[in-house]
Amino acid sequence: MVTVGVLSLQGAFREHVSVLRSLGAQTRKVTRPEHLEGLDSIVLPGGESSAMVRIAANVGLFPVLSQRIRDGLPTFGTCAGLILLAERLTDETLDGYGRLGGLGITVARNAYGSQRESFVAPLTVTGLDGDFHGTFIRAPQIVDAGDAEVLASHAGLPVLVRSGNVWGGSFHPELGPDTRIHELFLQTVGVTV
Ligand code: GLN
Repeated sequence: MVTVGVLSLQGAFREHVSVLRSLGAQTRKVTRPEHLEGLDSIVLPGGESSAMVRIAANVGLFPVLSQRIRDGLPTFGTCAGLILLAERLTDETLDGYGRLGGLGITVARNAYGSQRESFVAPLTVTGLDGDFHGTFIRAPQIVDAGDAEVLASHAGLPVLVRSGNVWGGSFHPELGPDTRIHELFLQTVGVTV
């Protein structure tokens, strides 16, 4: 059985754990570097990236995880998780804190609006038949996909991208009953559950 880690410093990690378990994966909550040992894949949830970077800095997690990602660990960051993976941010609010990198994209935090401006949008996703309803909550905008492959767009901007073993989405694929994006990610990166 494969083990998928879920970064569990803060945010919507429980929801990812339950989707992954429903698909047959074993999961492990990751809060410290030693939790990375033997993982087959990792998911970085939504939440509040400014909190995540501060908590991670206390335990020295991100330098080790960043290296694992660069060494090929299949990784999927959603919302705040996408912010952690972006090589470039348009603002300086997280400067001085280590992030992960791994996706050669540029991201604008909170650019889809405030909590009250949250929305659900039907998305056409490469590799899926039929729309996926994506939930956007204080979502980051991918303003430049760089060399990443765009798997879904909304209103002309990329919202799901992939660069080799690293996937990132602006929305929350773990909310709601549709588990197809998690399945697609695991299949595409060769993690068979
Ligand atoms: N706005 C949040 C941040 O900057 C992300 C929101 C989310 O993950 N739903 O971290």
